[in-house]
Amino acid sequence: MSVTTVPFVQARNYTGGRANAIDVLVIHTMESPEKPDTAESVAAWFAGSTAPQASAHYCIDGNSIVQCVRDEDVAWHAPGANHNGLGFEHAGRAAQTAHDWSDDYSLACLELSAELVARKCEEHHIPVVWLQSADLRAGRRGITGHVQVSDAFKRSDHRDPGTSFPVQRYLALVRASMGTAWVPPAEHRGKDKAPSQDPTLKQGANGYQVTRLQRLLAQRGFDPGAADGDFGPGTLRAVQAAQTAHGLDADGIAGPLTWHALLAG
Ligand SMILES: [Zn+2]
Repeated sequence: MSVTTVPFVQARNYTGGRANAIDVLVIHTMESPEKPDTAESVAAWFAGSTAPQASAHYCIDGNSIVQCVRDEDVAWHAPGANHNGLGFEHAGRAAQTAHDWSDDYSLACLELSAELVARKCEEHHIPVVWLQSADLRAGRRGITGHVQVSDAFKRSDHRDPGTSFPVQRYLALVRASMGTAWVPPAEHRGKDKAPSQDPTLKQGANGYQVTRLQRLLAQRGFDPGAADGDFGPGTLRAVQAAQTAHGLDADGIAGPLTWHALLAG
C-alpha cells in the first residue's frame, strides 16, 4: 500500500483544531498482537462506542495504515506533547525484544511507518533526530517515543515503544524514505527548536504572550482576572495555583514546564 491512500476513520475522542505548530512525532506501540488487521481493529476501537479516552493520528500494522485523527486536530496520545505532536501507533508491544522487532511483520510495519513519518518530516520541516526527554523539555523538534514524553512531562506512565525499539534503524529508514528531501539535522537552520511558543514570563511582563497566558489560565480554571496583557498579582496567583495543581514548583514564573502543563491540560 502507499501512504498517499490512507483510509480515515474518525476517532471518538480528540480535540478539534490546534493552536501550535507540529514539532514532535511520537512513536507508540498499540500493545496489540501483530495481525494483518491490527490497525483497522484499533482504529475501529478508537471510533466505537467503547472508545478509550485516547486516540492517535495514525495506526500502522504490517500491511496498512489507518488515519484516526486529522493532523489539524489534537489526538490524545502522549500528554505533554499532544498540543504540538502527531501520534503514530504501531502493532506490537513495548515488551518486544530486538529479535521481535526484526521479524518480517515488524520490518514491514516499520518500513510503512518510516515512509509516513518521512512525509510528515518533510511537510513540517522536522529534523530526523531522536529526542530524549531533556530535548523535549528544551523544546527541540524531532521524533521521539511515548516513554520520552512520559519522562519529560510526568503526565503519563506509558513506557512504549519499549527499550528494544530499533531507534537507529528506524531513523535510517525515515532518512532513506526522504531521499533527496532529507536535510542533515544541523542544517535545519533555526528549525531544530520550536519558535518560542512558551516564553518565560513573570510578574511585571506585558504584551500578547501575557494575554495568551492569561487566556490559557482562565480556560484551565485558574482565574487571572482580566486578560489585559499585564502580568500583575492576579496573574501571579493564577500561575501559582496552576503550578500547584500540576505538581510544579509554585514560583509564579511561567516557564516551559508551566506552559506545557497548561497547554496539555
Ligand atoms: Zn503510547
